[in-house]
Amino acid sequence: MLIDFHTHIFPDKIAARSVEILLAGMRREQGDAYCDSQTLIYRPATLGGLLDSMAQTGVDRSICLPIATKPEQTESINRYAESVQSEKVLSFGTLHPADPDWDRVLGSLAERGFRGIKLHPQFQLSDIDSPECIRIIKKCAALGLLVMFHAGADIGLPPPLYATPEKISHVLAETEGSNLIAAHLGGWDMWDDVERYLVGTPILFDTAFIWKFISPAQCRRIIRTHGAEKILFGSDSPWEDPADTLRFLQSLGLTEQETDLITHENALRILGETETA
Ligand SMILES: [Zn+2]
Repeated sequence: MLIDFHTHIFPDKIAARSVEILLAGMRREQGDAYCDSQTLIYRPATLGGLLDSMAQTGVDRSICLPIATKPEQTESINRYAESVQSEKVLSFGTLHPADPDWDRVLGSLAERGFRGIKLHPQFQLSDIDSPECIRIIKKCAALGLLVMFHAGADIGLPPPLYATPEKISHVLAETEGSNLIAAHLGGWDMWDDVERYLVGTPILFDTAFIWKFISPAQCRRIIRTHGAEKILFGSDSPWEDPADTLRFLQSLGLTEQETDLITHENALRILGETETA
């Protein structure tokens, strides 16, 4: 069984335009040569596109992670997230840290059966250890909601960095941390700091969008020292092909037991489910 814990989709009407905006950011930050040399998008970033790609790559279930870049988008994005839920696709909700209505929004998401939310400190211009994010994280812990957040640098957004491994470690002074998932193996392109500040803590990491950038030796070391029971398979699809992510993971020389934890067992555990397939 393969569960992809880090995917993105957009409503059909705005998918093309949303992707165009994100690609423009990458082009600005990384330059034309990078963007022209990479196949960044291999399908439309819609629900239909995701389901097609899952069928092709053998992904059984995907977790979608929507991001509100303005507080006023929260409600409509969460309604869309609710509309895509199925056996194969589970969408988290979104919340903007500056939303004055944050408390009610979280209560409503929990009531409606959402399993977690996604924060993107880099898009939302809010430090992960700010009072706004801390109160959200604490409330989510109380409600039993998972908090997935972008961690480290972002390929399409300039510094300053709002969720560095060091800032993430400050969150642990305020909350226990086992409902937190730091994407991109704890901090994209900041893996030395992940080893310095986060390895061994209760925070989970995912494997999204790392394989072209991290050395296999460092990736294996982080997985082993952090604990495979706290690593989730994630691709960042459509920005990366889950088949490539899986190939990379399988090249690391992990045990079958470690691989099972990463590809699906951990996901089922934190979602409070048991394997049915
Ligand atoms: Zn992502």
